[in-house]
Amino acid sequence: MGSVASARAAAQLTRSGALRGRVALVTGSTRGIGEGIAASLAKAGCDLVLNGRMPSELGSTLARELANAHGVDAAYCEADLGRADNVGALARFAEDKFGRIDILVNNAGVQHVCPVARFPDERWEEVLSLNLSAAFRATKAVLGGMRARGWGRIINVASVHGLVASEHKSAYVAAKHGLVGLTKVVAIETANDGITCNAICPGWVRTELLQRQLDTRACSQGITVDEAAMALLRSKQPMHQFSAVESIGALAVFLCSDIARTMTGAAISMDGGWAAI
Ligand code: NAD
Repeated sequence: MGSVASARAAAQLTRSGALRGRVALVTGSTRGIGEGIAASLAKAGCDLVLNGRMPSELGSTLARELANAHGVDAAYCEADLGRADNVGALARFAEDKFGRIDILVNNAGVQHVCPVARFPDERWEEVLSLNLSAAFRATKAVLGGMRARGWGRIINVASVHGLVASEHKSAYVAAKHGLVGLTKVVAIETANDGITCNAICPGWVRTELLQRQLDTRACSQGITVDEAAMALLRSKQPMHQFSAVESIGALAVFLCSDIARTMTGAAISMDGGWAAI
C-alpha cells in the first residue's frame, strides 16, 4: 500500500463503520475495559457477541443498547470462562448466531492480591484458568474459521504485568506474562494466514477490578479512595492519570484495521510510562 493509500486508510479508521460486516467476540465485556472495547468495535461497525458473568436478561439488555446505539447486531452469552467447557460453548454460540468469528478479544480477567507464601491454591488456579487458559482455549476454537476465511484478528488484553512484576500478584503476573508469550506463538503460527495476534498491556485503568484494590488500600491506610487512587498512580506510573477504556477500545479498533495488518506478535503498552521505568 502506498503512502497516499495508507493515509486514506488511516483516515477511514477514525470514521465510524470502518469494520462494518466483521463479527467480534469480546470476553468479559459487561463492564470495564471489555465493555469499552466492545463499544469501540460496535462504533466501527462490528456485530458483537458479549460475554460475562452478568445474568442473561441484563446482558441481553446491554447488547441491545449497544446494537441500537451503533446500528449493529449484538448478542450476549453468559458463561464462566474459568471452566474449560464453557469457552468452546461460547465460541459455538457466536458461530451459531453470526456464522463466524472474525475478531476475538480475550479480555476476561480476575486479580487476587496476596504474598506468595500465603497465596491460596484455588485462587492461583482461578487466575490462571481465566486470564491465561481461557485465552488459549478461545484461540484454539476460532483459528480454524479464521484460517479458512483468510482473515482474523486476535487481541489479548494482557497488562503491564505481562511485562514487569509487582509484589503480591504472583498468579496475575504469571498469567499475564504467559499471555504475552501465547500472543507471540500464535502470531508466528498464523503469520501467513491473514491473521494477526497482539497483546494490549494497560497500566492503571479505573474499573471494578481496580476499585476493589483502591477500597482495600483506603480502608487499611485510613485515607479516602481518591487519595488511594493518586497514591497508586504515583507508586507505579510516571504519568499520574488513569488510561481510559475508550483509549484501549480505539487501540483495539486500530489493531483490527487494514493498516495494522503487518503488526503481529506485539505487546503494546498503554500504561502512562510504567514499563519504561
Ligand atoms: P472488570 O472486573 O471491571 O471486568 C471484568 C469483566 O470480566 C466483566 O465483564 C466480568 O463479568 C467478566 N468476568 C469476570 N470473571 C469472569 C469469568 N469467570 N468468565 C467470564 N467473564 C468473567 O475488569 P477490567 O479492569 O475491565 O479488566 C479487564 C481486563 O483488563 C482483565 O484481563 C484485566 O486483567 C486487564 N487489565 C486491567 C487493568 C486495570 O487497571 N483495570 C490493567 C491492566 C489489565
